[in-house]
Amino acid sequence: MKQFLVVVAPLLLFVGSVGAQESEGSGVDLAGVPAPSHGVRPESLLVRNVMVIRGNGNPPTGPTDVLVTGNTIDRVGRFRGKQAPKTVLDGTGKFIVPGFINMHAHLQEERLGNPMPVEYVLNLWLASGITTIRDVGSKLDRTLEIQELSARGEIPAPRVFVYAWVPRTETPDEIREKVRELHRKGADGLKIYSLDRDLLEAAMGEANRLGLRATTHIGVEETNAWDSIRLGMTSIEHWYGIPDAALDGLQKFPADFSYSNEVDRFRYAGRLWREANPEKLRKVLQAMVDANVAWDPTFAIYEASRDVVRARNKPWFKDYLHPALEEFFEPSLGSHGSYFMGWSNTDEVYWRENYQIWFDAVLQFSRMGGMVTTGEDAGFIYVMQGFGFLRELELQEEAGFQTLEVLKHASLNGATVLGQEHILGQIRPGYKADMALVNGNPIANLRVLYPTGTDLYVDGKASHGGAIEWTIKDGIPYHGPTLLARVKEIVADARAKKKE
Ligand SMILES: [Zn+2]
Repeated sequence: MKQFLVVVAPLLLFVGSVGAQESEGSGVDLAGVPAPSHGVRPESLLVRNVMVIRGNGNPPTGPTDVLVTGNTIDRVGRFRGKQAPKTVLDGTGKFIVPGFINMHAHLQEERLGNPMPVEYVLNLWLASGITTIRDVGSKLDRTLEIQELSARGEIPAPRVFVYAWVPRTETPDEIREKVRELHRKGADGLKIYSLDRDLLEAAMGEANRLGLRATTHIGVEETNAWDSIRLGMTSIEHWYGIPDAALDGLQKFPADFSYSNEVDRFRYAGRLWREANPEKLRKVLQAMVDANVAWDPTFAIYEASRDVVRARNKPWFKDYLHPALEEFFEPSLGSHGSYFMGWSNTDEVYWRENYQIWFDAVLQFSRMGGMVTTGEDAGFIYVMQGFGFLRELELQEEAGFQTLEVLKHASLNGATVLGQEHILGQIRPGYKADMALVNGNPIANLRVLYPTGTDLYVDGKASHGGAIEWTIKDGIPYHGPTLLARVKEIVADARAKKKE
């Protein structure tokens, strides 16, 4: 029943706004104006006759026009210019959404020492409508370099926000110095992972002093969500430290458990949410809301735990899975997240229950006023870049959010948590021209966003359609099928090389 309501409500909004169509407003003949070229920022671009999803949760408007001048959204409304724009895209029957913000990205160029060109992940992200990533802890110098190349429009890439990993040190003074050093080098924020309480307090004290935002991969460790709340953390990645903060005592592990063994660790992570005391959990969530700590749940990265057969057999692996990733995904204690050895149906049953409690907690958090974002954490656990992000949107719908809300999580909420809500995350005049033109209605079916498209049923006939046709980042249009064709080529080359 919940699923049924989720789909119907946005459709009603859609029908309501079609009645309010604006009329053609300009006498300028647009018939001969060319489409933009892939990867070249035109002086101006008009997306015509398109349904607009603004990104702030408002219902769609249109069909109408969106005018981009340079790298900025100039106007949302029927075109009234006296002169024809330099380029035009026809949006008839299509939707335009704000470029997506992937809050948990890793710029990977190798897996297990096997090279994987960064172009591979960048193209996958753009082809999936992602125009901004928050990189949470990759090689700092290289990430800053890609950030710069992207900002100058020299490579096809999303905008990059660099959240540098803070390594563990011996003393609080050393970690303060480390935070200052990362700030000097140009990090936009910090990624915190597994710090003991004294080190975490020192690092966060310095981060707050410098005005650096911070996000934490919160494990089962000395600190938990209460520390994030108390110390001014911007956001929490994943989830463990949230139920951990709501336990009566410690989690019940078997006597032969080792946290260093990933089979153990992920098996018993699947039994953590059930141990959270619901009353305590509600208090933790409320305190997160009050302290303005956002939650980036990354549902999609854990999904193999509840259905490993699905995870291993995604249709897009055939043409688009890079062999370096493929090898990394093979079960092995040496690769992070490749813990599927002896994974049983019982493990999956626990994980499905785990997901239900987790879904409810994220929904409850949002309904209390909490900020939910969308991050993918791809490159691990059978999750490919871009596709993983889009799966995250689907899982947030499964958690009980309307698709229109999920799209807000992926745009305005991400921009807000990055502190960029005045220029990113909305289709609004004056904002950066970061958008994706979708062949279909993502409110009715999130699957139309997949770069490979999806199966449809139109006028009594089965067909294949959907997909993002153009991703526009900073006013530069990138053609979806061209990006994806390049990914296929990179993969085919790498597979051929591997055979040699
Ligand atoms: Zn990660």
